[in-house]
Amino acid sequence: MARDPRYDILFEPIKIGPKIMRNRFYQVPHCIGAGSDRPGFQAAHRSMKAEGGWAAINTEYCSVHPESDDTHRLSARLWDAGDVRNLSAMTEHIHKFGALAGAELWYGSAHAPNMESRATPRGASQYASEFETLTYCREMDIDDIKKVQGYYVKAALRARDAGFDIVYVYGADSYIPLQFLSKYYNKRTDQYGGSFKNRARFWVETLEQVRKAVGDDMAVVVRFAVDTLMGPAGVEVEDDAMKFVEFADDIVDLWDVNLCGIAEWGENATPSRYYASGHHVSWTRFIKQVAKKPVLGVGRYTDPEKMLEIVTKGYADIIGAARPSIADPFLPNKINEGRVEDIRVCIGCNICISRWEIGGPPMICTQNATAGEEYRRGWHPEKFEKKGSEDSVLVVGAGPAGSECARILMERGYTTHLYDSAEKIGGHLNQIVLLPGLGEWGYHRDYRETQLNKLLKKNKNSQMMLGQKRMTAEDVLKYGAEKVVIATGSSWNTEGTNCITHNPIPGADASRPDQLTPEQVLDGKKPIGKRVVILNADTYHMAPSLAEKLALAGHEVTLVSGVHLAHYMHFTLEYSNVQRRLHELKINRMDDHFCSRIEPGRMEVYYTFGDGYKATYRGPGKSPRDANTSHQWIEFDSLILVTGRHSDDSLYKEVKARKSEWAANGIKDVYIIGDAEAPRLMADATFTGHRLAREIEEADAQDPLAYKREVAVWGTPHMPGGDHRIVYKV
Ligand code: ADP
Ligand code: SF4
Repeated sequence: MARDPRYDILFEPIKIGPKIMRNRFYQVPHCIGAGSDRPGFQAAHRSMKAEGGWAAINTEYCSVHPESDDTHRLSARLWDAGDVRNLSAMTEHIHKFGALAGAELWYGSAHAPNMESRATPRGASQYASEFETLTYCREMDIDDIKKVQGYYVKAALRARDAGFDIVYVYGADSYIPLQFLSKYYNKRTDQYGGSFKNRARFWVETLEQVRKAVGDDMAVVVRFAVDTLMGPAGVEVEDDAMKFVEFADDIVDLWDVNLCGIAEWGENATPSRYYASGHHVSWTRFIKQVAKKPVLGVGRYTDPEKMLEIVTKGYADIIGAARPSIADPFLPNKINEGRVEDIRVCIGCNICISRWEIGGPPMICTQNATAGEEYRRGWHPEKFEKKGSEDSVLVVGAGPAGSECARILMERGYTTHLYDSAEKIGGHLNQIVLLPGLGEWGYHRDYRETQLNKLLKKNKNSQMMLGQKRMTAEDVLKYGAEKVVIATGSSWNTEGTNCITHNPIPGADASRPDQLTPEQVLDGKKPIGKRVVILNADTYHMAPSLAEKLALAGHEVTLVSGVHLAHYMHFTLEYSNVQRRLHELKINRMDDHFCSRIEPGRMEVYYTFGDGYKATYRGPGKSPRDANTSHQWIEFDSLILVTGRHSDDSLYKEVKARKSEWAANGIKDVYIIGDAEAPRLMADATFTGHRLAREIEEADAQDPLAYKREVAVWGTPHMPGGDHRIVYKV
């Protein structure tokens, strides 16, 4: 199909300095956990987007010098010839597909902990990082300033050597150029502090030096948090930001504008839980009023209508994207080919970010199971190896794992029956979307529903069988499929089993009228009383999500948490706003408390650290700590048990127990995936379904094939010999 002519404007070439972008789609710098150390991953992940139609693709933050070392997290680096060589794999592969490659030069100051290099970071003024733990910088004198500017120049020249077309002097996320500009960091009284011009001096000088060094070979780009969202204490868009853009416009080829500082960068990489697409525009639209050079804006843009609005209303010239390009590297091509319904829409869950925030491991994506797997497993998001046998496959359970597995099996040409007792695909996600702010997560289900319906038209022997009776082991054996995939999911515990005691809680019983699991809350069948207590031992979002939902419905909610509440949401950048929301809704908190027993209408709670600090050996059968005397009773009308999950694996176990009958019934193998195997993130459940479908003809397909590791091997050159080509299994 041809593209809708209304979207033509999105495909107009656009000039940035000496370079031409072939269209207005631009992958802004974003972390993936590849850096310069995993060149295959870096090259394959980024060039996938070049293949998918993006006009420019950037590295993540790319350190200019060992003084800016983000270990335990993994940044790109341009410290030496080895980094040049490794990153040249990225530029080479991007260029093959006709796109531009950019390096985002980064000096972090005290926000870089330097745990590997042990160097001392330098800053505009001395401060303790509000993002890192126990990291201070030393205040730069004039010699230091020259030295750090020299790091940028050398790194820019290395970027040019590596084949990059674009070089950034990166000052978003409160890194050093912005620190000089911002009164929040810059307390200097010399020519680099005080007045606007003095505060802008470091950034402008660095830009001039970088531009002079790279000449006309590269476009010089600024990434700029145009409002740090702290009012006059920091950078405000209509004050310092507009002034800076006017002041430096002549020496900049493109303004890549976003919001906020690093400590709460979820206000920029906005989770859908709190912000809709395009949230940034209220601030960033001002920049076009003063910039003569092109302006690029982000805002989790996945809808071409929204993109059109951004460009035609003059808010930005270029559509910047990180997460939409991860969820769907082929987003521009799909718009171009008139296949908008095929876009795998980013759901805004920030699981991709969580892996970088935790440090080290490759990024994953809830929507796109191939993200991060392009090089090491050879997975292409849009191309699939043809089926390796004539076996038909029954998939029981159409949640995230089962529906993804069936989708890939059908893409590969396997006759596939996707079976569920539920009327709709999506599994537990159909309840999750009822929680406050999580409606957009439903795009995960919607994408698979659309694709499965399309595939069914091509693959006439396959079927989607929804609203069926629950399948038993006998039904599976008699079904007639050669291979069976069990994707029956998981449920919340009804008897209080939890990660603290690893046992049920005496008196916990969700079959009672005054106790509920999260599923029971969301299916709305059981009445819920005025005074609600939520007992939590889960570190993700369920307890705070339910607290918010019930408080909004007028209940008085108390949250009792035996684990760090919403701990994982630090990594998804939702944590601060979760806390604000619980505070706003006046939800009572009993953090570091858990429950010892439950009686009708009340439960006994204790302080989790109330048992004496010193462990002492007191003989067998005796606790090594003093008795906990902090117990107290609290009352409720309804108690919600968010204590843990268990796999719904009874069907798998029953079928497995009848293995001796498989052959007689024509069954070659039975597999278990998703939460039925072990409760996990939706991204990981989706991955297990995708992985099995890619490898189902392997002899022991339940266990994954080995993947290519990018490691230094003792006694060999650091990049060992072997096959460094990117090979997709299609
Ligand atoms: P996952 O996240 O692993 O995909 P979900 O819990 O979201 O798991 O989805 C599991 C799906 O399996 C649900 O839609 C549920 O209705 C379905 N299911 C579970 N057991 C059976 C069964 N015995 N027969 C048919 N469908 C089942
Ligand atoms: Fe979007 Fe979630 Fe994928 Fe990140 S992990 S790209 S937020 S769908």
